[in-house]
Amino acid sequence: MTTSSPLTSPVLHGVPVVAGVQYGPVIRPGTLPDVDVQAGADLAEADRPAEVERFTAAATTVATRLRERATHASGAAAEVLTATATLAQDRAWLGAAEKRIKDGAPAVRAVAGAVDQFVDMFTKMGGLMAERVTDLRDIRDRVTAELAGLPEPGVPMPDVPSILCAEDLAPADTAGLDPNLVVALATTLGGPTSHTAIIARQLGIPCVVAVTGLDDVEAGAMVLVDGTLGTVTVNPDPATAQQAVDEARRAAAAAANWAGPGATADGHQVAVLANVQDGAAARAARETPAEGVGLFRTELCFLNRDTEPTVDEQAEIYGEVLAAFEGRKVVVRTLDAGSDKPLKFAGHPDEANPALGVRGIRIAEANPGLLDRQLDAIGAAAERTGAAPWVMAPMIATAQEAEDFAARARSRGLTPGVMIEVPAAALLAEKILDHVDFLSIGTNDLAQYTMAADRMSAQLATLTDPWQPAVLALVAMTVRAGAAVDKPVGVCGEAAADPLLACVLAGLGVTSLSAAAAAVQSVGAKLAQVSLQQCRDAAEAVLATASTAEARAAALEILG
Ligand code: PEP
Ligand code: MG
Repeated sequence: MTTSSPLTSPVLHGVPVVAGVQYGPVIRPGTLPDVDVQAGADLAEADRPAEVERFTAAATTVATRLRERATHASGAAAEVLTATATLAQDRAWLGAAEKRIKDGAPAVRAVAGAVDQFVDMFTKMGGLMAERVTDLRDIRDRVTAELAGLPEPGVPMPDVPSILCAEDLAPADTAGLDPNLVVALATTLGGPTSHTAIIARQLGIPCVVAVTGLDDVEAGAMVLVDGTLGTVTVNPDPATAQQAVDEARRAAAAAANWAGPGATADGHQVAVLANVQDGAAARAARETPAEGVGLFRTELCFLNRDTEPTVDEQAEIYGEVLAAFEGRKVVVRTLDAGSDKPLKFAGHPDEANPALGVRGIRIAEANPGLLDRQLDAIGAAAERTGAAPWVMAPMIATAQEAEDFAARARSRGLTPGVMIEVPAAALLAEKILDHVDFLSIGTNDLAQYTMAADRMSAQLATLTDPWQPAVLALVAMTVRAGAAVDKPVGVCGEAAADPLLACVLAGLGVTSLSAAAAAVQSVGAKLAQVSLQQCRDAAEAVLATASTAEARAAALEILG
């Protein structure tokens, strides 16, 4: 969608990923190596071993360079660079390329063929695996450039602070960015969980993904990127653009001073919590004013495991998170395996529609032992650390599922709750609350299932926007059910990471907001600037709208 700003500059719309506003000239990543991969006759048998060697050396050089860059980076950036370097040396695709060379293909053709083969496979697997396709293509281009003696493709180093626009960004490029020179990111593709998004969050630079029409914006054009609204304004009035940047900077400075606990300006408390995926993330989150953990995504600890971790191993890992937030609230979610997060040991059936298949709590039906052993492990971790964690099940759709889960948790002395991410569960929240002590709304999946739109699809990103009034109506319904029986209802989806939407959620009556650690301060600071009445008015106004744009505008008008 393209609309016009008051400055009559084209405003391109995308999905906001990292808040903040920046203005500057567009830079675009270097073009792919201009090599005709199909050119060249088949190699003579005698030349093939040398070609294999040339290929192996090129792949090693690329991996070594990436590793070298990883040593100069830190945190997620270092991890992404190391992961890409590891993929560059992955035996499976190296083997596939070698085989093609041994069959006579010149190295560049073999590289293209082998990568295509794996891209196809990863794309069919969907979800997180499909997101690795960008990494593979990046490796292909680097190795091809190396083989052809061309400069490594990637992001140019700008002379002035610039906005990096691209169709999609190779993780290795985004990981090496200098946030003083590349001050914002915008991409045509990608979702809120893509590598681009993860790195932008770590660098703390505004980021908008899935921007329609971005491909037509040429390098050198001046753009204003608003990572809160999800817009890219092309050639805006320079003075107005600078004013928007200054205002956003002032808001960021105010956020940096916020030290918690979460409350509105007039003292209405809404706990601001962190989403974590392991002990390291929990310790990092502990450095923020987060009052606890609202969502511990346990399945992310085991994505690379072939076999189920023992109860003891699990207890050790869960214990790390409980210890990091000793004496504070920690909500542990049981394995949300399946769909975009398959676990090898969960025994997923082959399914045509995994997002609508056996994922989350549904795995327990055929494999109750997996859930029981995990709850045993959480119980053991609680005992070891003296913590009293809450536990919640993902993908609950019926009251019966909630009842079964609650019984299993209570028998181990754990406080049970469930996630509300399926519309059926929101509609029957009242019945579900007969069995559990709290609810946590997963707006990412709630949006996906309410709007019947794949959350990984860039094309459907407007539909999966948590500002969709239909999604917020289900949130309101869930919160009302909780308030009626005086049980806590939090939000732990990405909606809680958007400061403006977080205030709307507070106005709807949610009792806690759990967001990525990087978003904790901006959410808490925004909440501290507004009154409960403003939040309630904004919630009412938003519920009366019929589109995400109207909803955002209504909230902005009241909350500023
Ligand atoms: C959600 O669906 O909003 C949620 C928090 O769970 P996940 O993103 O892990 O599916
Ligand atoms: Mg979910």
